[in-house]
Amino acid sequence: KPRRCYDVVVIGAGPSGAVASSILSEKGYRVLVLEKQHFPRFSIGESLLPQCMEILESAGMLQAVVEAGFQYKNGAAFATNNQYSSFDFREKFSNGWGTTYQVQRAQFDKVLADCAAEKGVEIRYGHDVVAYKDRGNQVQLDVISEDNTYQVEAKFILDASGFGRVLPKLLGLEKESTLSPRVSLFTHIEDGINHSEYDRDKILISVCPENNQIWYWLIPFSDGRASVGLILPREIYEQNQISNHDLLRQYISKTTTMNAFLEKAKFDIDVRKMDGYSCDVTHLYGDKFALLGNAGEFLDPVFSSGVTIALKSADLATHVLDKQLKGLAVDWETEYAQPLKQGVNTFRAFVDGWYDGTLQDVIFAEDKSTQIKKMISSVLAGYAWDKKNPYVKDPNRLKVLAELCRT
Ligand code: FAD
Repeated sequence: KPRRCYDVVVIGAGPSGAVASSILSEKGYRVLVLEKQHFPRFSIGESLLPQCMEILESAGMLQAVVEAGFQYKNGAAFATNNQYSSFDFREKFSNGWGTTYQVQRAQFDKVLADCAAEKGVEIRYGHDVVAYKDRGNQVQLDVISEDNTYQVEAKFILDASGFGRVLPKLLGLEKESTLSPRVSLFTHIEDGINHSEYDRDKILISVCPENNQIWYWLIPFSDGRASVGLILPREIYEQNQISNHDLLRQYISKTTTMNAFLEKAKFDIDVRKMDGYSCDVTHLYGDKFALLGNAGEFLDPVFSSGVTIALKSADLATHVLDKQLKGLAVDWETEYAQPLKQGVNTFRAFVDGWYDGTLQDVIFAEDKSTQIKKMISSVLAGYAWDKKNPYVKDPNRLKVLAELCRT
């Protein structure tokens, strides 16, 4: 008979759920992961940041990720029609990894979930969490699987359900993001790139020559395919009359660099759409639950910070939860919410700076001081929690820097 009572139940087996469940299982807790879908399954969020490597390493998952043969990544490149600027993450202010990978998430998420299962986590695929009830000492979740409906109990719930946002919806914690609503169109292509100026070791972010609120990503994979995506303000998307596929291709044709790189590309699968992806919550934790990764706040994809924040949240939350389950005093506000938000707020300043144009000025400025470039490179590499970096300690410095770059 399957066990019905656990120390911790994790909702969702994406990166935050896999890492959190694995860390807790290694500490000896009985952990169950309930995952709605069957893996491998598609997910967006394919460009990792070097900061992820440290967390994957400490969760004992790095070897499996390295051995999976993903595309090597050492930085980020930015292009407009007449400017090109690149950051090599190995040249950065903070200590730690300077390289990482760009990954097909179907495969990457399965690698992490399989690692968690190997470490003793029970994962049930095809199990959808539909209700949460606080029963005093325990929490009860209602679950719908392909065969039946059942309840499971736990001392604590970690919600790692990503855009499923299970507890924010069930407990009324949803809060509107301060970021404007934007639409993303994306697909995977056979990229066919053999252009001499293309640097396959970097993500390429291109800005639309007509409007700096519109931008594109090109994330190469190690098998000759790539992810391409377009971000545009919702009101601009809504004015359009053509198919998502044609709109994506039409916008790509406006860019000099990306259009040249993708000259021989084959767009051979459907274009997907995500509308209004930025989201927030009123609370990141409660008496018997905490929200990880995208189940909490999601900002914007421009600096590829999503998986990094998801992994950081898993790392921080499991540390606090371990203490709580041992009967020690914990303060989720100062030990989880505040430290997590400190890094999220660094990325927020960069995202705000991107859309108000100040950060684009900094990125494309020709003569940046080497030391300042290293500090910016560190944040772009995901080291948004390193308060020794002046741009982490006080992200508003970006505005001053942009003024300097403009003069
Ligand atoms: P997820 O990876 O979303 O996993 C959540 C899991 O929970 C899923 O498997 C889902 O099936 C499961 N689930 C949902 N509901 C239920 C339920 N009721 N019961 C049980 N299980 C459930 N991030 C990057 O780092 N790099 C990028 O390049 C990047 N690009 C992006 C581009 C776009 C357009 C967008 C919108 C986001 C991008 N992101 C990127 C962000 C990234 O996708 C997320 O931050 C990341 O996947 C969050 O991981 P997670 O573990 O929180 O959740």
